[in-house]
Amino acid sequence: MNAPRIGVLALQGDTREHLAALREAGAEASTVRRRGELESVDALVIPGGESTAMSHLLREFELLEPLRARLADGMPAYGSCAGMILMASEILDAGAPGRAALALGAIDMTVRRNAFGRQVDSFEGELEFGGITGPMHAVFIRAPWVERVGPQVEVLARADGHVVAVRQGRTLATAFHPEMTGDRRVHRLFVDIVTGRA
Ligand code: GLN
Repeated sequence: MNAPRIGVLALQGDTREHLAALREAGAEASTVRRRGELESVDALVIPGGESTAMSHLLREFELLEPLRARLADGMPAYGSCAGMILMASEILDAGAPGRAALALGAIDMTVRRNAFGRQVDSFEGELEFGGITGPMHAVFIRAPWVERVGPQVEVLARADGHVVAVRQGRTLATAFHPEMTGDRRVHRLFVDIVTGRA
């Protein structure tokens, strides 16, 4: 297969880092801000940022329903941090009514927003990641954690006992930010998921 075309949702958040990481992992990466751009990619990364702001902008840019439709249709997707929150089927502490983060329902899981943030805003640590050899350095910034996973969801990593990385079929989510370290193993895993190698 040729290099897969992977979009990065570019409404808000750390878009550039994901574009660079995806290219290093062998994908053809581009930004997604319009419906036509969403239709033209094989897969999508939803970056870190602020899930409430991103939800608002998804509506503003008329991307919410097209994105829900593509996810329901099985488009592979990877969400980091705010992206993980949006990919959930249920969000706890989603934010003020009317401005709350919206659950896109791509992964059968309940995510608590800013879960670690109530203890400490940001931290870094080493973790083990299912299917990837060797420790992984993980950066958490006002990160969520996963409080419930459905039967189809595979838990890939934990931090302090809390679930922080999951996969369900061709969707992947991490509470941390692999795009911020030089380690490309998570992005390579996603590229392999998109091409059907993983
Ligand atoms: N706390 C943010 C949110 O609720 C996520 C933080 C991040 O993406 N680094 O969306």
